[in-house]
Amino acid sequence: MSPNSLFTIPRLQKLGIRLNLILLGIILFFLVSSGYGIWTLQQQSAQFKTITQTYYDRAMLAAELSRDAELIATKAMEQTLTQRLSSIDANILQDDLTRTFTVARDRLNAQSSEEQAVLANIDRLTQPYFNQLTTFYTFIELQQRLEQEMDTLNFIRVKLTTPYLPEFKGINIETFDALMTSASNATLQLLDAHSPGLIARRDSKINSAIVALSSLSALDESQKRDRDALVANINQTRELKEQLDQSHLKTLAAMRKTRLQAQRLSSVCFDFYLLVKARAQNASQKHSQLIERVTLQIALFSSAFLGLIGVAYWLIRHYIVRRLNRLSFVMSQHAIGYPERIPEDGNDEITVISKTFAQFVAANNHAQDEAQRAKKVAEKANERLRELNAILHQQSNTDELTQIPNRRSFFHWLNTIGPELSAKEQSVSIFMIDIDWFKSYNDHYGHQAGDVCLHQIAQLLRDVTKESSGMLARYGGEEFIVAIPDISPEQANTFGQAILDAIEHAQIPHGYSPKHHITVSIGVSTAYEGCADHSCEKLISNADQALYEAKALGRASVVSNVMKDSL
Ligand code: GH3
Ligand code: MG
Ligand code: MG
Repeated sequence: MSPNSLFTIPRLQKLGIRLNLILLGIILFFLVSSGYGIWTLQQQSAQFKTITQTYYDRAMLAAELSRDAELIATKAMEQTLTQRLSSIDANILQDDLTRTFTVARDRLNAQSSEEQAVLANIDRLTQPYFNQLTTFYTFIELQQRLEQEMDTLNFIRVKLTTPYLPEFKGINIETFDALMTSASNATLQLLDAHSPGLIARRDSKINSAIVALSSLSALDESQKRDRDALVANINQTRELKEQLDQSHLKTLAAMRKTRLQAQRLSSVCFDFYLLVKARAQNASQKHSQLIERVTLQIALFSSAFLGLIGVAYWLIRHYIVRRLNRLSFVMSQHAIGYPERIPEDGNDEITVISKTFAQFVAANNHAQDEAQRAKKVAEKANERLRELNAILHQQSNTDELTQIPNRRSFFHWLNTIGPELSAKEQSVSIFMIDIDWFKSYNDHYGHQAGDVCLHQIAQLLRDVTKESSGMLARYGGEEFIVAIPDISPEQANTFGQAILDAIEHAQIPHGYSPKHHITVSIGVSTAYEGCADHSCEKLISNADQALYEAKALGRASVVSNVMKDSL
């Protein structure tokens, strides 16, 4: 199993990915809050622009007021100078101009004590200005009226003098005519005179003519009437002229005053305009500075924040994620048997985990070494046990004296093979072999020599048996037993005979037997279809019976006891 499949972590559960997601969330939150901050700033900026616009509108109104004040005065002067006095309706003109100014003024309101002072100044100057304007127009009206009257008088005077001139007859007529003409012309010239000197000179000329006319004595009634009419006319003309001149002077004075007040009003309005403009500029500048400062602060804060996030990312990556990944890799390598060096640098929790893991690895290695050693010891002990067991097994199945299988081993073999032969329907033959006259052998040669003889006979029997697939064992005392599978009774008899021959051939001396050497008697029993349990015991019993018979027949012989039916 690979380390990856053993410790695969779902992508979203990885520590690094989770930390990165948290950082991403913080950045997003920061961007949203910064964006909201900038948006709010822009909203405030827009609101401030509206306020600033209001300032500018008020400034424009003040400028309009200033312009209106000047315009009103200029219009009035213009109308005076263009001599279109007859077309002026003073009341209507004044009402229009006043309304224009008042409407503009009403739209202005003070937003500071300074502005309030300037507006109060405007209001203080407004009423005298319009009063002055009224006075100005009153003078214009007066002048207008006087000029109309002057025109009428001139017409009358010219009408009075001119038609009567040809009617003057008599001796004084030239003088009278000359005087009347002189007085009349001097009066007409007086109307064009505006400087005091010229007026005085022409006035004096008129007076001289009137005095001369008065001194004429030979005048008829008609002449007298004409003279009186002319004099009255001249006097009325001179009086009107004087009034007109005075009115003209007053009109000029009113004009100057109106102009002056218009300038003052305009100046105050312009002051208000400058004040509002300065306030608007100041506010705008302050707001721009504020926006710049806040924007700079946001930019600095954002940079610092993003920088900190970057540092946090690096620190987390460098001090946690990278080390955990490394530790995880090292642990995985250990798990699959490729031990890597365990990183133990630092002094934090990860280092503690690393050191703990290192201790675990050391303890595990030690335990593995111990287990290996214990395994080797156990293997050695097992080996020894197996050896001892084999020895024991061999000892428990081997006859100690003759070193051939013992009776127990024989029965184990027979109980195993007998049923198999029975199943295969194969025969089994049992040979019971007993040494003849062995008691006397022992008695005469000693028990030790008897043991040697037993060992010798066992070796002979083994030599004879080893060619076959049979089983040889010491049955007990001086008796041996052989079992051979799958042979006929004849072959069994032959085999028994072969044993007798081998013993005979060995010629082991036995001076106390009839043949003077060791002989054996053999009882053979054959079962045609193997044996099992009781049938085996019976087979052995039959062989023993045959042996008994062989003894009875004189020993050193083979007796076969084939008892198929009885099995
Ligand atoms: P037979 O011909 O009728 O068999 O006569 P026998 O003397 O052989 O038979 P018996 O049963 O009378 O004697 C058997 C003897 O075998 C008695 C005993 O001393 C001897 N014997 C039995 N086991 C051993 C043994 O392990 N060692 C020795 N040396 N002798 C043994
Ligand atoms: Mg015996
Ligand atoms: Mg015997």
